[in-house]
Amino acid sequence: MAQIIQKKHITVEQNWQKELATGFTDPFSLLRYLNLDTTDFGSHAEARRLFPMRVPRFFASLMQKGNWQDPLLQQVLPVKQEFLSAPGFSADPLEEHATATPGLLHKYRSRVLLIVRGGCAVNCRYCFRRHFPYADNSLSKQELARNIDYIAAHPVIDEVILSGGDPLMAKDTHLAELANALSAIPHIKRLRIHSRLPVVMPSRLDTDFMRWFSAVPLQRVLVLHVNHANEISEQLVQRLRSLREAGVTLLNQAVLLKGINDDADTQQQLNETLFNAGVMPYYLHTLDKVQGSAHFDVPLQTAREIMAELIKRLPGFMVPKLVTEIGGQPGKTPIDLRLHPLE
Ligand SMILES: *Cc1c(COP(=O)(O)O)cnc(C)c1O
Ligand code: SF4
Repeated sequence: MAQIIQKKHITVEQNWQKELATGFTDPFSLLRYLNLDTTDFGSHAEARRLFPMRVPRFFASLMQKGNWQDPLLQQVLPVKQEFLSAPGFSADPLEEHATATPGLLHKYRSRVLLIVRGGCAVNCRYCFRRHFPYADNSLSKQELARNIDYIAAHPVIDEVILSGGDPLMAKDTHLAELANALSAIPHIKRLRIHSRLPVVMPSRLDTDFMRWFSAVPLQRVLVLHVNHANEISEQLVQRLRSLREAGVTLLNQAVLLKGINDDADTQQQLNETLFNAGVMPYYLHTLDKVQGSAHFDVPLQTAREIMAELIKRLPGFMVPKLVTEIGGQPGKTPIDLRLHPLE
């Protein structure tokens, strides 16, 4: 009996990894799957050389067939606008590429970012890490041990954020080991995971994941990345329910994106749907000015107008904080929401 359970367990563990391997990497096959005519698409396809296309089949199944303007498709489809350069947009807007400690970013006083894995299940075209040299950041055992020593040696750190890429691209055995090592450090109170994987492939939140994550003796926070209500599938909602039952705090960060979620109705729907799924809206980020993403940029004044409308329409706890990241600041910088400054 034990053996049968063991076997079953292994099959389950491999499911999400198998699913990952079957994702769309060719824009033409994605477009054909969506019943879209690819005749005029040729000039866009080259953009995948700048940043490969990656779209899990599950995420594609949430897109509306026959709709070029689908807000999920627009986030992942390579387009020729990515070749344009724009003033103020650079390859490394947050100055993250050169760090003294590969795999570790300690920019904010009390919390540290551990880059667990480069690479993601989905490649978002607006991603501020689209030029990140992940190859140089895949850690050896020694480097990881050194990063854990760093955390242990800095009592000012009380929270570790697993990031990437997408940290949930790592195997559960690896993540569980890491969580054990972090739990043994007395000043660490919280373990936070920043991941988009559960959104684009809810199967990632499987029993193996639940088993180790539920057992971590720290406060646990999962910060999802959802930009549009259509991304919140029934499958995701079900798995989030188990996480909440296991005492995990669920938050969301979104990015304000032109043509995708840059109006009050879309934002209202996003934040209501999140809350209905037990996820608290946390941040709405303005676009990080990474080269090749200028066509997603939303003017600050539009952002303020959307926020003013959300404040009117929603209870305060459903309104995310509009923030931007400015190099050298001690945390994310809140954006002044006043449409007409008082003074
Ligand atoms: C965003 C970020 C964090 C987390 O910031 P919070 O405001 O706590 O969500 C931590 N470290 C780095 C480097 C970050 O970019
Ligand atoms: S999931 Fe996050 S890190 Fe990965 S490509 Fe999308 S925005 Fe970038």
